[in-house]
Amino acid sequence: MDNAKPVVIVGASHAAAETVTQLRRQGWQGGITVIGDEIHLPYQRPPLSKAYFKGDVPVEKLLIRPEDVYVKAECEMLLGQRVKRLDLLDNFVVLDDDTQVEFGALVLCTGTRARLLPIAGADADNMMVLRTLDDVNNIRARVTPHSKLLVVGAGYIGLEIAASAVSLGVEVTVLEAQERVLARVTSPETSEYFTNLHAQAGVTIELGVGISEFVHSDDHAPSKVLLNDGREIEFDNAVIGIGVVPNTELAEAAGVLCDNGIVVDEFTATNIPGVYAIGDCCNHPSALYQRRIRLESVPNALEQARIVAQSICGNPEAYDSVPWFWSDQYEVKLQTVGLLEGYDTAVVRGEPKENKFAVFYLLKGRLLAVDAINSPIDFMVGKKLVANKVDLSAYDLSDPALNLKSLV
Ligand code: FAD
Repeated sequence: MDNAKPVVIVGASHAAAETVTQLRRQGWQGGITVIGDEIHLPYQRPPLSKAYFKGDVPVEKLLIRPEDVYVKAECEMLLGQRVKRLDLLDNFVVLDDDTQVEFGALVLCTGTRARLLPIAGADADNMMVLRTLDDVNNIRARVTPHSKLLVVGAGYIGLEIAASAVSLGVEVTVLEAQERVLARVTSPETSEYFTNLHAQAGVTIELGVGISEFVHSDDHAPSKVLLNDGREIEFDNAVIGIGVVPNTELAEAAGVLCDNGIVVDEFTATNIPGVYAIGDCCNHPSALYQRRIRLESVPNALEQARIVAQSICGNPEAYDSVPWFWSDQYEVKLQTVGLLEGYDTAVVRGEPKENKFAVFYLLKGRLLAVDAINSPIDFMVGKKLVANKVDLSAYDLSDPALNLKSLV
């Protein structure tokens, strides 16, 4: 890659911060420019629904790297500036104020945005989403102890918000359209455990409910959600946590192939030479699962940052990682390794009542995924067993006497 023109990174995200570090580590001598539409230096999003929401960590601790690291890396940070257009013939990007920034290589780290709810009344000021630092500051300013918070969606983020808010003395109700919580990402066994955990903490969870409308009044009376079954629930504020949409419009308008994310190969390259995409916005091939996937996780963003830096520095390596995720709710850490779609057997190891157990998901004896609840050993060993495609059909994984490490 020609050092004369900078690497331009669009989106001042987690993936972007790591790409800066990786480019320098791998010997990139040219310029690096990061352009982000948020005004903040790249920060960690996971604490926004967890420790930062509860007030347990100050805002400075959210930064992925302090400012002087970017200065030392001679990385130019253009913050609070949106890229509105990509010119991929003459290799420059256009900012909102029409400034043009030339690039030698372009890395798209545009991430995702919260999915909106297309229901009447969902656009009122007390109906919020949580994707950014500004979002959580807005939520925290409105959600006070004893107020009523409605959370729409019982995915990771909805449940983390519920756990954080109830610990602050907020009255929380979670509405979920599916018949169980975390239905998109886990099994009935793990869903049941988390439903019970929230019930014990005082969160009301309504499963299998449809929403027909939100009604707001002008006289400071609470808002109401009208359910399809005729019931009404009052609330002061609501957070909609029904998933995210990848930010692909910029790439798509410039002729970059997109399909549930920006389509890249195993080296994070798009169909346009010199243009790469990494992190939550990209759809990449998984060697392990033999199909394309789009992941929304920090470990994936970090690994792809290393891969893109290697591609740009002329030392390409194919991405071949096992996906993993985590979620913190109350005193419980859920760590999931692998994707559990298509499993035929789920084996529980340990005791859910003791808040320490794991669920192993197998297909024809081969381990596809593991949910480890307060069980880091099961997670660590599971990661190796999933990566190595070990056949476990001869073993009873529920037997506490079985030494899992011996199977790796
Ligand atoms: P993002 O973090 O989405 O950042 C993309 C950036 O690009 C944004 O700042 C966006 O504004 C900017 N941008 C987009 N378009 C433009 C443009 N045209 N011009 C300029 N800038 C642009 N992951 C985990 O692994 N574990 C967790 O526990 C976890 N918890 C989470 C909790 C919350 C509340 C949220 C929101 C996310 C959580 N995640 C978690 C997901 C994790 O934060 C992301 O996977 C990670 O941040 C990687 O995202 P990214 O770097 O791809 O992009």
